[in-house]
Amino acid sequence: MQRQNHPIATEDNVASFQLTSFHFGTPVDGSAGDAATKAKKVYLQASLHADEVPAMLVAHALKRELEKLDAAGRVKGEIILVPAANPIGLSQVIHGAPFGRFDLASGVNFNRNYKHVAESLKTSLAGELGPDAHANAALVRAHARRAVAEWQPKSATQELKKRLLSMAIDADIMLDLHCDNEAVLHLYTGTPLAERVQPLADLLGAHAVLLATESGGEPFDEACSRVWWELAEHFGDATPIPLGCVGVTVELRGENDVRYDLADRDARAILQYLAREGVLALDGLDPLPAPLCAPTPLAGVESLEAPHSGVLVFLKTLGEQVAAGDAVADIVNPVSGRTTTLHAGRAGVLFASTAHRHLLRGMHVCKIAGSEAHRSGSLLSA
Ligand SMILES: [Zn+2]
Repeated sequence: MQRQNHPIATEDNVASFQLTSFHFGTPVDGSAGDAATKAKKVYLQASLHADEVPAMLVAHALKRELEKLDAAGRVKGEIILVPAANPIGLSQVIHGAPFGRFDLASGVNFNRNYKHVAESLKTSLAGELGPDAHANAALVRAHARRAVAEWQPKSATQELKKRLLSMAIDADIMLDLHCDNEAVLHLYTGTPLAERVQPLADLLGAHAVLLATESGGEPFDEACSRVWWELAEHFGDATPIPLGCVGVTVELRGENDVRYDLADRDARAILQYLAREGVLALDGLDPLPAPLCAPTPLAGVESLEAPHSGVLVFLKTLGEQVAAGDAVADIVNPVSGRTTTLHAGRAGVLFASTAHRHLLRGMHVCKIAGSEAHRSGSLLSA
């Protein structure tokens, strides 16, 4: 294992930050050699939204296991682990409450506005590609690395985003570990990747796998993965481009689900997935558990909101399948006595909810994963 420190925001007079990455196995040069048999590069990062703590404990468990596996020569490719991906957000505390989802300086979500390199690659790769998909993949990686290197950060937070993306942009597998406010385990990934992500969903016991070809807002996982299917479509079948990166946002339940048993189980599932992908040599593979859900479109998620202020009382439990018209929650105003029952508009799995129990009008209540797409435009919450 090798540790690398990356200073962020090193101007005089102002706060600076340190990002740390841990490197296991042997660096993979995706642009060289026999691309067909190239070893895989894996990039894992935790808690990009800094106060999403379960991910950091999973990263801690992963680091412990990867150190042992690396020492035993069992890491077959390259694995980069960033156990605390957002030192800027981790340093933000407002009146005693950690605040890690948005950059206080700009108001921008830490998981939005990553450089999407596909547009510049459509120009730089024109005339460069051939009939060999593996050779094309190597070219895509080289050009993508260059495009990220050319990103000129205009703030400390953009500097952090560039540093993270420059480690991940050429990865074969990129897992971005988050959590929701309160939730059962669920995943976000690209529609073209559904089949490749299924074993990971099964091993982790995901209750929802939410698919989109483009979610909107340029989140980190899509900065790594979407470039591949966009370029494949742009350049066409004569110059084939594979799905070179399995990029997944893993939501490790709710923000208070911080327990050793859960972290050990999640870390084991991720290691088992990496073993199945040929990146780790483990003594044995766990049998693949039966799926808890079928993938559904991100555009099929129904979000319920509070119609007026009041106390939120859930009538359904996270992970429960609800039918269209089912009563999901009450909003109880203790002064007027007004009580409004919120009903599911469509059938689906209740997979995430707010952690607050008194809401103002318009505030988010919960999300239900339905199987029919009914939304368009920007599909992620703020
Ligand atoms: Zn998050």
